[in-house]
Amino acid sequence: MSSEQSFPLTLRVAGRRVVVVGGGHVATRRTLSLLDAGALVVVISPTVASSLASSIGRGDVTWIARTYRSGDLDGAWLVQTATADALVDERVAADAEASQIWCLKGGDPAGATAWAPAVARVDDVTVAVSGGGDAGRAAALRDAVATALQSGDLPLRHRTHRPDGFVALVGGGPGDPGLITTRGRRLLAEADVVVIDRLAPHGVLAELAPDVEVIDVGKMPDHHPIPQHEINAILIDRARQGKIVVRLKGGDPYVFGRGGEELIACRDAGIPVEVVPGVTSAIGVAAAAGIPVTHRGVARGFSVVTGHESLAALPHDRAHTIVMLMGVKRLAETAGELIAAGHDPETPSALVENGCSVDQRVTVGTLSTIADRAAAVGAKSPAITVIGDVVTLAPSWPPT
Ligand code: SAH
Repeated sequence: MSSEQSFPLTLRVAGRRVVVVGGGHVATRRTLSLLDAGALVVVISPTVASSLASSIGRGDVTWIARTYRSGDLDGAWLVQTATADALVDERVAADAEASQIWCLKGGDPAGATAWAPAVARVDDVTVAVSGGGDAGRAAALRDAVATALQSGDLPLRHRTHRPDGFVALVGGGPGDPGLITTRGRRLLAEADVVVIDRLAPHGVLAELAPDVEVIDVGKMPDHHPIPQHEINAILIDRARQGKIVVRLKGGDPYVFGRGGEELIACRDAGIPVEVVPGVTSAIGVAAAAGIPVTHRGVARGFSVVTGHESLAALPHDRAHTIVMLMGVKRLAETAGELIAAGHDPETPSALVENGCSVDQRVTVGTLSTIADRAAAVGAKSPAITVIGDVVTLAPSWPPT
């Protein structure tokens, strides 16, 4: 099987008869991918593997439960033979040759007239890798290309045609570039413009091509250099220039991230817009500190709130976890307010600064001590506060 002698081709098998001779692992895998492509699959084999039997049971496949006979290929466009019996496979291949039907041959690529590549589908792209006679290597290469495509590691800019412009509101996760979704990475690789927040993962900027416009609208605490309506206007303006705009936000766009406002502004302006969820700090930073926001027998639910609002209405139950974003400076007032509202002053509490980064610091205490402990270590934003019995699961528990 030398690649110079082959002609790569993609077949439209939908609605066309394809015969699979054999009922084992190879036959099953081939049948399933042929079914995905819409082929009318006929399986010829005295017995079939259980996973193939379930497709047969659903009526997707015609099963002829006997050994192969001449004439079985009548009307077929393509045949796969994989019977584990070399003599049968030879006969199938010879009949296929005589009838001018392409033949895939399990375990004997040299005796085949067709070879199926290792395939992955990424959006509208089919990645097909074949050659070398080493199926494992082809599959590994296919995986590498598919992953690089999905993750945006391959250069994709200017290959996407979006003449009307486009805005993606991408959740960047809590700071570690490894915590962005592959969809987010992919869109970043396609972006002409990246509009970034202070808490978004700045590490990814280094990977952008030099001509990508980066606009930092980072808001400092108590200081809002670029008002929201101006951010909206930037997104709309760049999209109207036909550009692909990624609005890269910290955490999840919809968790205290004003993503909803940006979405509405884009929609009102008639700009196509997509939202890519992210790992919110409310859950991800707690997790990085070893705190699950729910835990069987310890916490049944959780609330995510900001430290800027009144918290009096929250459940008092220590089995209901409270995750507070922002409000490090007001921590003493907030804790006092919760205690006054009836929360147990002994409720385990943790402050996690710079979560998911090398500077992560966890300070633990109780509702009555956490503010003093945070002040004692000079705690600063960005930080989340977790209040509830789940805090006892953190490696840094108990307070020393
Ligand atoms: N949309 C974001 C939250 C934006 S509000 C999300 O889903 O995570 C900003 C607040 O998020 C900060 O004040 C802090 O409370 C929290 N935060 C974001 N990243 C953080 C991090 N790496 N470590 C600790 N807290 C973080």
